[in-house]
Amino acid sequence: MKNIVVIGGGPSGLEASANLHKMGYNVILVEKSPALGGHLAKWDRLFPQGIPAKDVLEGMISNINGVKYFLNANVQSINALGKSYNVILDNGITVLADAVLFATGFDLFKAEKKEEYGYGIYERVITNADLENWFRTKEDSRVANNPKRIGFVHCVGSRDEKAGNRYCSKVCCATAVKQACEIKQEFPDAEVFCFYMDLRMFGRGYEDLYLSAQKEYGVRFIRGRVSEVAENINKELVVKAEDTLSGKPIKVTLDLLVLMAGMQNCSAGAKVAGQIGVAGMETDGFFETKDTIYSLQQSNKPGVFFAGACTGPKTLPDSLHEARAAALAIHNYLQEGEKR
Ligand code: SF4
Repeated sequence: MKNIVVIGGGPSGLEASANLHKMGYNVILVEKSPALGGHLAKWDRLFPQGIPAKDVLEGMISNINGVKYFLNANVQSINALGKSYNVILDNGITVLADAVLFATGFDLFKAEKKEEYGYGIYERVITNADLENWFRTKEDSRVANNPKRIGFVHCVGSRDEKAGNRYCSKVCCATAVKQACEIKQEFPDAEVFCFYMDLRMFGRGYEDLYLSAQKEYGVRFIRGRVSEVAENINKELVVKAEDTLSGKPIKVTLDLLVLMAGMQNCSAGAKVAGQIGVAGMETDGFFETKDTIYSLQQSNKPGVFFAGACTGPKTLPDSLHEARAAALAIHNYLQEGEKR
């Protein structure tokens, strides 16, 4: 039976593993953290309809019944050996893989790198991931204290030359609008502001979410980049921005500021891929696919494939589609090999 190593136990890795297992391959799934699910495991609800992330993840995990997986496990080394890859894990397991799938996902941009926004300096500045964690657990005193004025800053670490990331992270506009509605549900009397550059609400149902944020929840959308965040003596956040529609500078005082941190290629995944010469694009750091139209699941190395956000920012449905496409691409590759 052919062995396939899937690196990454987030949604793409789970979906690809389930499909490959059903096709009759011996799948070995490697996850570096103590649990399956990746970022999805830390998320509360999914845009646009607000479906609980937990329900979606439970379904995915139940689909990998029969797949061998290792948690708290990392690829220590990987080498090409003829047409195969010798994969050694740090738990002592060695696999001779006929194909390797990178489903290593993304790292969230480290918001503290944008010092001017005060993450890690001011207590009431949090990230999209922190807020999502609060929705899920209600265990974060920074949020729970009945905030009256709340701001969201879009494009943190995305579309930003200074941060080294020129690309759009694709999902953070929709996430901000979703979270702005949810925080109004939690704190109906609060005033909520979104500071955006452009609103990229491109998917089915996303525009309705945006309209509902304005009409039902009264969220105020301000077109402009935040230039500075400071704290006053009452521990409130003083946020300066320029309203680029009116051309006027604005200053608002907030109780909570949420930074929409963008996506970057997973650094741990990139390190492993580098061992076999799988490269990231110079322009954005995400893995380079064989081409940009037809072979999005294939790398420049035979037998090495990609699924999900390791090749660029993706929504969850996009990642799942890619995972199924990757499973099929691997199957076709292995079938072709049999014929040779
Ligand atoms: S999706 Fe929106 S918030 Fe995210 S980087 Fe693109 S424009 Fe900015």
